[in-house]
Amino acid sequence: MNIGVLKERAHRRLVSLTPAGVVRLRAQAEVLVQQGAGAAAGFSDQAYRDAGALVVESPEAVLQGADIVLGHDSHYTGEPLKGERTFVGFFNVLNEPAIVANYTRPGITLHSLDLMPRTTLAQAMDVLSSVASISGYQAVLLAAERSLATVPMITSAGGTLRPARFLIMGAGVAGLQAIATARRLGAVVKAYDVRSAAKDEVESLGAEFIEVDGAQEDRKAGGYAVEQSADQLERARVRIQQEASEADIIITTARIPGRRAPVLITREMVGIMKAGAVIVDLAAATGGNCELSEADHTVMHGEVTILAPTSIECGCAHSTSFLISNNYTAFLLHLLSQRAEQREDEILKATRVVADGTVVNERFLALAPVAA
Ligand code: NAD
Repeated sequence: MNIGVLKERAHRRLVSLTPAGVVRLRAQAEVLVQQGAGAAAGFSDQAYRDAGALVVESPEAVLQGADIVLGHDSHYTGEPLKGERTFVGFFNVLNEPAIVANYTRPGITLHSLDLMPRTTLAQAMDVLSSVASISGYQAVLLAAERSLATVPMITSAGGTLRPARFLIMGAGVAGLQAIATARRLGAVVKAYDVRSAAKDEVESLGAEFIEVDGAQEDRKAGGYAVEQSADQLERARVRIQQEASEADIIITTARIPGRRAPVLITREMVGIMKAGAVIVDLAAATGGNCELSEADHTVMHGEVTILAPTSIECGCAHSTSFLISNNYTAFLLHLLSQRAEQREDEILKATRVVADGTVVNERFLALAPVAA
């Protein structure tokens, strides 16, 4: 069995498998790595060779030589390949369903790990959580850097600076990491989420939970949020408006799998924010939580800065690659062992989008039927 690792697009800087990942896989498979795949994340070709990988020159060489092709976010769009191949990556298929058409060819199987179930067994393979954790951390650093005010309380000969007030919208993995990072920097933090379970987590990190009655929840959503009614979104907006006017920094992370992100920060709210305030919108890739966000652009609305980065986790590429490589390695070892035993469990079933050229994933078909 050969596993091939593709180089990601240049601006992404990540690599899906580190040399340590190669070492873990070597007992089960040969590993081919595209030249320069880890360079932007601080992993040299020589480090891959030392780990036992074969470094090959081109993506074509990876594709030709591999039975399993790993690329975190790099899509195969080339000529049809002969033989059977399995592609593994994090393709965000619920929000970008059109990419699946690249893989509906005989012999091709596609696993997209954004569909990983949120179960205890799957936790080690949860790329989404790794990316979200780093994104939450990076969002706080980015906001702090762009803010005109300091974050912690600072007392000096010139007087006392009060701590910054953060408002975190959405307290999932990214939001909780943002809360923890802001608290470590000394901020006063409030957070809002539609899942009632988030309250205890927010409070355990020393932040205040903003309660808005009447949020819709659904146990069948597997721990994820569900789309809120227009009435509920309006109730939340009224409640959040007051909080927004007092915040120095707002970080938004609210998403709903397979749907446009909910708009939580309106133009009107931005209009009443303090001069010098900063918004970092982590939901920009799926439309944004702030009405004024423009993906990967900086928008100034009066004196308020709105940032909407879609690749923020690539900012500390070495650390992010370390985490996602552990996730992919755990998944690949699981895939290989299940194949050896000719079994298929919940994890493989949930993440498999295409089998031998046919779209088979029920969640994908339910949420993105047009592309299938
Ligand atoms: P996500 O990225 O899909 O969404 C981020 C947050 O936005 C969520 O907390 C969601 O409730 C919130 N949100 C959605 N709509 C909102 C709205 N209108 N207003 C305010 N907030 C809104 O979520 P995630 O970070 O991937 O986490 C989803 C759930 O999965 C959480 O319960 C998390 O703890 C859980 N989880 C479990 C595991 C595991 O058990 N293996 C791993 C990771 C996450």
